[in-house]
Amino acid sequence: MTSAGLTSRQDSPARQPDDLAAAVVRHARRLGFDRCRILPVGDAPHADFFDSWLAADRAGEMSYLTRHATKRRRPDLLAEGEAGPFRSLIVLAVDYHQFDLPPALRDDPSRGLIASYAWGDDYHEIIRPLLYDLDGFIRSRTGRTTLGKCLVDTGPVLERDWAHVAGIGFTGKNCCTIDPAAGSWLLLATVLVPETLTYAPPVATTPGSVSAQAVLEGLSWDGSYGAWELPADDAGPDAATRTGACGRCTRCLSACPTRAFVGPYHLDPQRCISYWTIEARQPVPRDLRPHFGNRIFGCDICQEVCPWNRRLAQRSPLLDGLHARADRIAPPLLEGFAPETPYWLDEQAFRQKFRRSPLRRAKRSGMLRNVCIALGNWGDPSALLALRSALHDSAALARGHAAWALGRIVALHGHDGAASALADALERESDEWVRSEIAAALA
Ligand code: SF4
Ligand code: SF4
Repeated sequence: MTSAGLTSRQDSPARQPDDLAAAVVRHARRLGFDRCRILPVGDAPHADFFDSWLAADRAGEMSYLTRHATKRRRPDLLAEGEAGPFRSLIVLAVDYHQFDLPPALRDDPSRGLIASYAWGDDYHEIIRPLLYDLDGFIRSRTGRTTLGKCLVDTGPVLERDWAHVAGIGFTGKNCCTIDPAAGSWLLLATVLVPETLTYAPPVATTPGSVSAQAVLEGLSWDGSYGAWELPADDAGPDAATRTGACGRCTRCLSACPTRAFVGPYHLDPQRCISYWTIEARQPVPRDLRPHFGNRIFGCDICQEVCPWNRRLAQRSPLLDGLHARADRIAPPLLEGFAPETPYWLDEQAFRQKFRRSPLRRAKRSGMLRNVCIALGNWGDPSALLALRSALHDSAALARGHAAWALGRIVALHGHDGAASALADALERESDEWVRSEIAAALA
């Protein structure tokens, strides 16, 4: 064995690096990945930008993003024990788009909208075993006895930057990776391995090359980044779609209901519905709540409006497990308060209902917070019973947002029952933040 955990087996033509790289790509396709490109492990291309973004305090409660700064810059250092150093980075993408949400569902305020990546089971659990399989495939060819690093949103790797460099797609102003042939509905994953594989030529032109300082200082962007090109050997299903860039389009920036984009390519999560409804455990700032509409988990707006998401390519079969479950697309907001399905109010019912769903990440208290905001934005008196239940919830986070929602209904309909429920709650409430929410609702 070499220090990298590799057995020297270069004598067989079948194991020459060129063959191995091609076999890896073929195996990735067999596993169901829509894109697979291989890069040499080097310094992360936009680590400076990411560090500036962190320095501007953008990460909010996502403190995990601030860890492992050196490894994020140098992914070869992610090797543990005898596994490294890693020499090749395999970048993979799965297209998860299924259908556009019918307006009748999307515009119904009595339903809660869930980001489309979460309509099926948790993609981490679906993709991770496939990454292990891909690494196992390489090990079976090289005799390596150590493990590669398999990451799906779970490590300090700047996936979108690497996807851009690898030629999987360009980074749009909405900060998503956009494959010109398939759009931006992509789940990204990476595998780091010590083998030296043959590499796809890196893509030279990157909209992300805008200086971090320029973005932070006030957006000197002038819309002139030029075209981005897929490498010739991976033209995708439609060669006519090989070039792409945002050009002068700014649809995503202007469509964002919370003005979360500081500018092109620069998102402030602390104004983003996805951050607040999925990652944050804190109360949502009052001024943002009305802009959430009926979004209870994530937000797809800045992708829905993107012209690159007009489907051009014939899609490949969806990975098992990602298929939308009917009850997770846009569930009626009040359903989870019903005595027979109390999943917003009851911890066990929540765990049972969402046992394989990405919604578990927000936890029950976070989801109940999100649902209360959607009910407040709906403003319909039929939500009063549910909100009064939430006003008694064990989680202060839920009680405070239930008070806000009740206040909205009182303001709209002048409902005496809601006002007296709030007044009663104020008398017994001991949590200072909840008290302040109730007082504001009654004001
Ligand atoms: Fe704005 Fe929604 Fe996109 Fe967040 S996900 S930036 S809230 S449009
Ligand atoms: Fe780029 Fe327009 Fe798509 Fe935004 S909506 S990512 S600006 S093409």
